[in-house]
Amino acid sequence: MPQIDKTLNNHAGFVKEAPEKPREKCGIFALAGYRGPGRAAMLAYLGLLALQHRGQESAGMAYGSPEGLVLLKGMGLVDRVFRRSSLTSITADTILGHVRYSTTGSSKSANAQPLLARSRDGSAIALAHNGNLTNTAVLHQKLFEEGHIFHSTSDSEIILTYIFQYRRKGLGEAVRKAVSLIQGAYAAVATDGREVVAFRDPGGFRPLVLGRLNGATVFASETAALDTVGASFVRDIKPGEIVSTVGGVLSSFSVPAAGKASLCIFEYVYFARPDSIIDGVSVHIFRKKVGRKLAERIPASVDLVIPSPDSGISAGIGLADALGVPLEWAIHRNPYLGRTFIEPTRAWREAAVRLKFNPINALIRGKRVALVDDSLVRGTTARVLIELLRAAGAATVHLCIASPPYRFPCYYGIDIPVASDLAVPGESLSYLAASIGADSVTFARAEDLYSSAGRGAENYCTACFTGYYPDEGH
Ligand code: SF4
Repeated sequence: MPQIDKTLNNHAGFVKEAPEKPREKCGIFALAGYRGPGRAAMLAYLGLLALQHRGQESAGMAYGSPEGLVLLKGMGLVDRVFRRSSLTSITADTILGHVRYSTTGSSKSANAQPLLARSRDGSAIALAHNGNLTNTAVLHQKLFEEGHIFHSTSDSEIILTYIFQYRRKGLGEAVRKAVSLIQGAYAAVATDGREVVAFRDPGGFRPLVLGRLNGATVFASETAALDTVGASFVRDIKPGEIVSTVGGVLSSFSVPAAGKASLCIFEYVYFARPDSIIDGVSVHIFRKKVGRKLAERIPASVDLVIPSPDSGISAGIGLADALGVPLEWAIHRNPYLGRTFIEPTRAWREAAVRLKFNPINALIRGKRVALVDDSLVRGTTARVLIELLRAAGAATVHLCIASPPYRFPCYYGIDIPVASDLAVPGESLSYLAASIGADSVTFARAEDLYSSAGRGAENYCTACFTGYYPDEGH
């Protein structure tokens, strides 16, 4: 069985502050052969805005022009990187876009995507990738010994390098050759400015969908991006599938399937937008169902369900519904503040969380409360919210988490803190409850996630809470 490269999160020698929430690596949006009203670049901009939750560190687009492929990218949010006035002057009908959060490779402009490879004869290929390869170190070393000079510290450059090496076979065939060499998680789109090829790893770790808009082909990480640009959903790109589109003609071929389907189940739990549909399952309805399961597990009676803003809303609705108690938006979130995970110390992080949240005392005083969130990583936010609820007069606070505890690292493109930073490195639930100030802590179980998705465990990667890594043959 293939071995996972467990050094990959530091293969470029960087260590970064672990996030308060697990972080998705990237989002992809591509449009091929668009000749409808408006500009393809403006639609790509809207598509990337719809995927902003999947990456906030950098954004970019690549498109064809008479001078060859042009790259437009920078650090920061989509609306900071692109000026709408310059997008309207781009006439290309085919465009590839990307938003990034770094898990391998540091947060710097050289790692912003799409990545571009260009030869002296002017041929060029751009790539946008979501996921993490698991044989990065081996391939990196091999390419290095062959004389390849890397321009980024991202594993995505390895994929691009192989596609570029085989480009004379045609883009689709070059992608097929590249995917025979790489392992791990990838949902990706490549273009030479004319043809666009989308491909998903044989396990299907990361989502990728196909849509249509005014005769053009659209590829996107989530269906919510299709909705945003007015495209119709056609289907998911299948695990192991390579889909090529050129001149309006779509063709598809598949590489041999992996031993096990391995969609990241945390796409449903946390990463994807609630209004997205992944592999036929509504993310919001999945989360509501897990919330209903929590009603069977919570050890005490409550009067009120309060979702953690905004990550506990869908599960909170399900829990309140199943318990037959009201759901209240009893914690106000200030939407104008930045993310808390960049704060360097626990004290600062907690102060930032207090700045962000304020409880509505009149709803809470004297009530037995279930506080609901989708996941628990370091517990910083939960600890402060519980403190705020108690200060607001809550009689009891029972923390309900709509996923099992994180216990193991992710090697497939999700940034989860090291075990020593996790709220639940192996302690008992009563110890955890005491340490974050709750009367009890209830986690959803793995089987709650499977039953809510309507499919068995064999369809998903669950490594970060089970320790069974699909690449290792589990
Ligand atoms: S290890 Fe966890 S976060 Fe990573 S792909 Fe698997 S289920 Fe998703």
